[in-house]
Amino acid sequence: MIFSKGARGFRAYTTKHLDELLGRGGLDEQARLRVRAVATVLPFRTNAYVVDELIDWSAVPDDPIYRLVFPQEDMLPEADVSRLAGLLRDAAPAARVQEAAREIRMRLNPHPAGQLELNVPRVDGEPVPGLQHKYSETVLFFPKQGQTCHAYCTYCFRWAQFIGEPDLKMASDDIGNLVEYVKAHPEVTSILFTGGDPMIMSEAVLRRYVEPLLGLEQIESIRIGTKSLAYWPDRFVGDPDAGATLKLFTEVVESGKSLAFMAHFTHPRELEPDIVQTAVGRILESGATIRTQAPLIRSINDRPDTWSHMWRRQTAMGMIPYYMFVERDTGPQDYFAVTLAEAHRIFRDAYAQVSGLCRTVRGPSMSATPGKVCVDGVTEVAGQRVFVLHFIQARDPELVGRPFFAHYDPHAVWLDDLRPAFADRFPFEFTEAPNRLSA
Ligand SMILES: *Cc1c(COP(=O)(O)O)cnc(C)c1O
Ligand code: SF4
Repeated sequence: MIFSKGARGFRAYTTKHLDELLGRGGLDEQARLRVRAVATVLPFRTNAYVVDELIDWSAVPDDPIYRLVFPQEDMLPEADVSRLAGLLRDAAPAARVQEAAREIRMRLNPHPAGQLELNVPRVDGEPVPGLQHKYSETVLFFPKQGQTCHAYCTYCFRWAQFIGEPDLKMASDDIGNLVEYVKAHPEVTSILFTGGDPMIMSEAVLRRYVEPLLGLEQIESIRIGTKSLAYWPDRFVGDPDAGATLKLFTEVVESGKSLAFMAHFTHPRELEPDIVQTAVGRILESGATIRTQAPLIRSINDRPDTWSHMWRRQTAMGMIPYYMFVERDTGPQDYFAVTLAEAHRIFRDAYAQVSGLCRTVRGPSMSATPGKVCVDGVTEVAGQRVFVLHFIQARDPELVGRPFFAHYDPHAVWLDDLRPAFADRFPFEFTEAPNRLSA
């Protein structure tokens, strides 16, 4: 895989191209049909950079980047795949395929952790779509034009955003609402643009969202959560919008705020092409900082060496490791889940191999309903084997940074699977979250 330099235009591939791409991986007709069946339920999208520069086609279907963006037939129950494959094979009407796919989706917990009900703030009693306010200092903003990605990760917990079901979508094109909300909430110091991928937006659109925030004195940082450095680094190099985008970053920094570029890297190979280092250099030159985060995914990055290698490369390239996440309880979670015990072992073994400069990373962390819960370890207390946990972030700030215990369970993959140790309830089950919803 040699990266051919120079600016080529961005080229997206969608389900229309799936059959042809799978043929490139050597999948026979039967296997292609079953993957296409999965793609009617879970959205598929990738681009020429990922296909040509990141995937090692000679290693398909085991190649980690292939597994990262292409649906896999065992992501859904066998009966569902067979039913959908049957419909596709018989050239059933699109409406029937869609209906079957929709029914299967609804069984996949499309909006975990109370995203739709619990975190939507209100202005004058009216819910503000496209905003989430869960932790007092940070507001999440989902710009309407940023609700897609340069490529879709197969493990994405935001897949509901991508399938165009209006009930499942949360997005806003109204920056006025955000500004008004922030002004009414002086505790908010950080705005996190998220999606999808906000960097899919043109500079002109991004600017419309960012500029009105620059005059708000209470805002100390603007963050952009993005996979673009991994999936489309040319966005910051040869893209016609690259220069203007970097200038916008500089304007944020010159307004006295930190512009934190939250880069999503799932596998070390995403760091390899030279253009990534070039893009990193340009972003840093703009005055922005780059922090990195990713979920721990079975079969893609579930070895300690993969993480220690990523953290070291990222640090060498000028980026700051930030979070290792536990994969969320949505979509094909059974397929990707790593147990909490295993996740902690992988984190610890990786963490033990890196210098202090990489140890800015926290995790493994679950973004659960009450907050971000970090698995600190497994130990024995008073003759009982327990998980030691703490909140990195919590809906209720009282809980942040206080250790708590759960019975050790080698099969647990999420907070819901855990039972409290030395107590009847977990600390987050005692307290009422401050009611920000009626603010
Ligand atoms: C992770 C997260 C944030 C940001 O938390 P930090 O600890 O400041 O990085 C904000 N809101 C939500 C809902 C989050 O999941
Ligand atoms: S980049 Fe993030 S939001 Fe986009 S598909 Fe991947 S995990 Fe989902």
